[in-house]
Amino acid sequence: MNSKLFSELGLSPALLKAVDRLGYEKAAPIQAEAIPMIMSGSDVVGQSQTGSGKTAAFGIPAVELVDPHVGFVQVIILCPTRELAVQVAEEIFKLSAFKRGVQSVPIYGGQSYNHQIRALQHGAQIVIGTPGRVLDHMERGTLVLDRVKLVVLDEADEMLNMGFRDDIERILKTVPTERQFICFSATMAKAIMELIKQFGRNPKTIRLEHKTLTVPTVEQTYYEIRNRSKTEALTRLIDHHDLKLGVIFCNTKRTVDELTNDLVARGYSADRIHGDMSQAQRERVMTKFRNSGLEFLIATDVAARGIDVEKIEAVFNYDLPWDEEDYVHRIGRTGRVGRSGRAFSLVAGRDIYKLQSIERYTGTKVTREQLPTLDEVEEKRTNLFFDKIHGALQTGDFERESPVVDRLLELGFSSTDIACAVIHELRKDDVRYLKDRITEPSQGLALAQARSKRPRKADVQNSKNNR
Ligand code: AMP
Repeated sequence: MNSKLFSELGLSPALLKAVDRLGYEKAAPIQAEAIPMIMSGSDVVGQSQTGSGKTAAFGIPAVELVDPHVGFVQVIILCPTRELAVQVAEEIFKLSAFKRGVQSVPIYGGQSYNHQIRALQHGAQIVIGTPGRVLDHMERGTLVLDRVKLVVLDEADEMLNMGFRDDIERILKTVPTERQFICFSATMAKAIMELIKQFGRNPKTIRLEHKTLTVPTVEQTYYEIRNRSKTEALTRLIDHHDLKLGVIFCNTKRTVDELTNDLVARGYSADRIHGDMSQAQRERVMTKFRNSGLEFLIATDVAARGIDVEKIEAVFNYDLPWDEEDYVHRIGRTGRVGRSGRAFSLVAGRDIYKLQSIERYTGTKVTREQLPTLDEVEEKRTNLFFDKIHGALQTGDFERESPVVDRLLELGFSSTDIACAVIHELRKDDVRYLKDRITEPSQGLALAQARSKRPRKADVQNSKNNR
């Protein structure tokens, strides 16, 4: 599969800067394929799932294509729902941050016409809309598509399922025939193929070929949680499993930075590695990690390529990768040379689709688990501590300390009080000693846990219905 840096895709400095600001380190496979194809002027048909990075795959060329000096609509992107239209518009807005004069507007049902008309009159060149509302504006004469250069159908199968076929056809018949046609769809059902045949001109097809990879035998589990509870969930898992050496993967450099700061602030021994760091900086961090001077390495895929450190106990997918192959590479960092390893994935919202496609690709089952509660974590840690002391008592290797105990006994303290005070002193500096560190679980996490008790199928259905 194609794994490329954005700098290899022929983008303008403005777009490269925007992508960098978004924290994207390398192009997702669909982006590596689609961007050069679309920028060369071809019609493109891509089979893609949500979460594959398809928005930027068509969004980047769309922004590149726009002539910012003229104020008429040059790109029209059709989406099935208002939520998706808003989401796509947000990404396009960010992608055009450094290309002066580019304006985009989402238009969808349920929002006042006036607001949308004002934006259109203002000279927006990129319109992202639901078919019904786009047609309404065309009929009112407030949206003119006679100079459109690029049409994108996003989630085409969903639009057809929702009965938008006639609307889409009417829109496509209105735009000039000399325009580029891009169609992304999760499935390539008969109706989609007919639409492509009718409106595409020798479209190039994107098929993301997978190399066959050996999937390591690592115990894989996932936890359904809210996005904002990810760090809390992560630290709970680290504490509960008493992990001492792990790699935590994030999808963007920005998340790596934020999470590293968060973990260090919470008292964990953690550092980062990503593509914005110099080779020397990266090597310094890696050496520290290799020599156990560091417990947790927070990394992007690019930076972590080739990490080969023995005894890594666990890999965390703080963000699930959009590329199934990256998942395999990530979890392969643990369980090396016959050791047992664990892979924990945090799954928020629509990530569940990504997880399903990872499971399909790897042919393995990732087991759903409940996050341990704070009480469970604390009990586990107390048991660990107990085992340690118990072990020391059994081996009898503590004679050296008896003068201190004798002095305390002479002062009249009971042996129980002395033992309790010693234990307290020992544990109070342990960042993982929860009583001192965390009081109540965040509401988000509590809610998310309640939610994750629901059966998985129903969850998938729910997220579908909400779209
Ligand atoms: P999409 O499939 O377009 O909905 O994208 C899924 C998520 O991946 C979005 O949150 C994007 O912001 C993010 N994303 C897209 N491309 C990249 C990339 N190259 N690197 C990191 N994150 C990305």
